[in-house]
Amino acid sequence: MRVTVAGAGIVGLSCAYRLAEAGHDVTVVAAAPPRESTSAVAGGVVYPPVRRPDERIVRWTAASLAVLRGQDAPGVRFRRGRVLLAPGQPDPQWLPAVDGGVRDGDRVEFTTAVVDTPVYLDWLFSRIAKQGVPVEYRSLTSLSGLGADVVVNAAGLGAGALAGDGSMVPVGGQVVHVADPGLPEFVVDETGPGVTYVIPHGTHVVCGGTEEPGRGDTDPNPAVTADILHRCRALEPRLAGAEVLRSLVGLRPFRREVRLERVGEVVHCYGHGGAGITLAWGCAADVAALVTAG
Ligand SMILES: Cc1cc2nc3c(=O)[nH]c(=O)nc-3n(C[C@H](O)[C@H](O)[C@H](O)COP(=O)(O)OP(=O)(O)OC[C@H]3O[C@@H](n4cnc5c(N)ncnc54)[C@H](O)[C@@H]3O)c2cc1C
Repeated sequence: MRVTVAGAGIVGLSCAYRLAEAGHDVTVVAAAPPRESTSAVAGGVVYPPVRRPDERIVRWTAASLAVLRGQDAPGVRFRRGRVLLAPGQPDPQWLPAVDGGVRDGDRVEFTTAVVDTPVYLDWLFSRIAKQGVPVEYRSLTSLSGLGADVVVNAAGLGAGALAGDGSMVPVGGQVVHVADPGLPEFVVDETGPGVTYVIPHGTHVVCGGTEEPGRGDTDPNPAVTADILHRCRALEPRLAGAEVLRSLVGLRPFRREVRLERVGEVVHCYGHGGAGITLAWGCAADVAALVTAG
């Protein structure tokens, strides 16, 4: 079958890979290269910061981890880390999906994949190139007239407009990269009004973050950079002298829940919010099944 995948972030590239592997004739169309996507800004820790119960989230997380474990890809490390929970919060629904998860008071500890997303996206991009998948750079205004039997709508924040779905909201997130002093573990603090996280990748540490619904620009704010550094150094004192490398902003493609369904000749796969790195491979398997089932 001829399949066009709209989008070359983590979701579009994972879908393209799975579809080509299943024998389909795949083309990717994207407004911009993977390194310019929201996916390239993500902190990259694989667990879903989703509090609404949704059994798909647990299944997709476990499936993604299984794929990442089997790939031995550059930019992916399995690390132990901890999430600090607000007092009295119940065990997160996703805890069984990650490795060795244990509850200790108001924190959970577990082992999961930590993905240096620009490095991993480059690798994934080279993998689909090896599969013979062409990538065209242009901004689509419609999902019809693409000359494909099936179109996969994996255009992140752009997917809502392409689907006529007004429920997508950009949720801005600023991060600061600092040189990695050799931190062995990631830590996410969910106890405050916003989330603070420290995610080491070997070369650098991603420090975050912010959640800014409705944000439209991707210009880092220096005052926010200072606030993030202050919070992260309090959470991880070993960052005190770490060189500050850069600040980045990404716009999370937020929706009340992920849309993954087939409507006629279009398979929609978007709205991953703050969990796209976590869910991508699990979703890609479902997308490939929906395309192949016809
Ligand atoms: C600061 C920050 C930290 C994050 N940390 C994590 C984390 O630790 N773990 C985690 O799981 N997730 C994290 N996320 C969330 C994650 O980055 C997103 O959920 C994920 O990147 C969404 O992937 P996507 O492929 O759907 O969208 P994108 O990466 O945004 O890709 C969309 C693609 O569609 C293309 N496109 C858009 N419109 C059109 C159009 N009209 N025509 C053609 N192409 C189009 C774009 O060019 C792009 O190629 C974080 C996000 C941010 C901002």
